[in-house]
Amino acid sequence: MLPVRASGLRGSVFTAIVPSVILGLAVALGLPIALFTLRSEFNRITAGLPADQVQQLRLLLAHAEVPVTGLSALALVAALVAIFLAMHAVKRLEKRIEGIAELADSVLTGGLVPLDGDDHDDSLGHLADDLCRIAGALAERDSSLREDAFRQELDSRVQNAMMLAESEADVYEITRRAMDTVVQGRPAELLMADASNAHLRIATTCGPHAPGCGVASPRQCHAVRRGQTMVYDDARAIDACPKLAAREHEVQCAVCIPVNVMGKTVGVMHAVTEHSNKFTAQSVRELESVVRHLGAHTGMIRALETSQLQAQTDPLTGLLNRRSLETRSAAILTEGAPAAVLVADLDHFKKLNDTYGHDAGDRALRLYSQVLRQTLRPSDLVARFGGEEFVCVLPGVDVQTAATIADRVREALAQAVQQSGGPKFTSSFGLAGHPVHGVTLDELVQAADTALYVAKKNGRDRVEVVGAIENPAEPPKPKPKVVESAA
Ligand code: GH3
Ligand code: MG
Ligand code: MG
Repeated sequence: MLPVRASGLRGSVFTAIVPSVILGLAVALGLPIALFTLRSEFNRITAGLPADQVQQLRLLLAHAEVPVTGLSALALVAALVAIFLAMHAVKRLEKRIEGIAELADSVLTGGLVPLDGDDHDDSLGHLADDLCRIAGALAERDSSLREDAFRQELDSRVQNAMMLAESEADVYEITRRAMDTVVQGRPAELLMADASNAHLRIATTCGPHAPGCGVASPRQCHAVRRGQTMVYDDARAIDACPKLAAREHEVQCAVCIPVNVMGKTVGVMHAVTEHSNKFTAQSVRELESVVRHLGAHTGMIRALETSQLQAQTDPLTGLLNRRSLETRSAAILTEGAPAAVLVADLDHFKKLNDTYGHDAGDRALRLYSQVLRQTLRPSDLVARFGGEEFVCVLPGVDVQTAATIADRVREALAQAVQQSGGPKFTSSFGLAGHPVHGVTLDELVQAADTALYVAKKNGRDRVEVVGAIENPAEPPKPKPKVVESAA
């Protein structure tokens, strides 16, 4: 605390009252001395006078002495009261100055706790009030700086964590942890739209339980539709979100922040709370910052996945392309593991193109791809190898079983073509087995091609297995390496 120089203060006050105290003491002491002197003089003068006269004069003198003695006593009391009041005033001043010193001390040391001022309407009181105002303003400034620092730190931590995220699941987990830091025990959830953008699904939650918002699709969400943060301080308010109003007995306040991914609002972050523990503007800003990072990084991951998918798939059919089949089949064609390689080729496809046009040909290729994908197992690799030729790798399957599967594809194609109402077309199939007919994909495709050649020769729309060929009529022509591009 600042030192209070009380001695100086006392000195000043005493200097101010000293003349009056001296005057009082002078009167109080001077008058008795004067009376004493007067009485001695009186005795000397009246020494020769008769006793009755002296007695009369003494009475006269006694009458005069009474007010003088009273005046002297009064002067003494006045001097003592002045000294007492001066001391009391000094004490009070000291106390008030100590209070002000305490205020100044608090401002200086940055404690900035709320302080009581001084009730007096004088200069010291005003000085104390000014110090209280300064302390209040500094405290506010200090808390806003702390909040900014916290937000910036959260922001950079979330940003750093997001940089390491490799999937949307990683991004949601980071979002959960960041939400948890901000909501501090209050229920919060992240809802994200599915691929159709028609349904909202819970991506992550935090707190004792999910807020359980009944919103089912992005269109139903106020915040998503308005594209801005919505803060609801009272679920019973006229303009509260209908989903919130419907649960006014469970939820009192909520904040809903839309999630924007690549310019499209595809989700919402909800957090709910009670009236007594409302979200501050600072908490809302922090949640908004988390949601901004979530949207930006989800967008980056989605863009990356799309470009990776595009690099791996055939744009016309969505099936794997030749290169990704080569990469992925390596894991299946491992030593000793049985697998079948199926090469499929549309019959007289050139004719179909020539007769019905290139677009009808493209539609036929897409239909054929769907039949392959739907008939084969999800674990089977299905690729468009080029033009109207497809290669499938069926793990854990021997060629005989694969022949049955290929026959099923053939039948499913016939059915699908009929249902489509488009031009009729069929497909021929050649099959080879791993590791019997080859070890690498190239060897197996080459072997299956031999069987395909026989299938074509034998009238098309059929399945041939390489092992079953006893005397192939002619060796097949080597396959061209150049892949025909899709339209
Ligand atoms: P085969 O029964 O002997 O296989 O006869 P084919 O007519 O199917 O075989 P060919 O190799 O003579 O012709 C293949 C045709 O496939 C030629 C080409 O125009 C067509 N084609 C290749 N890729 C595409 C494509 O992406 N879209 C369309 N519409 N046609 C394609
Ligand atoms: Mg063909
Ligand atoms: Mg062909």
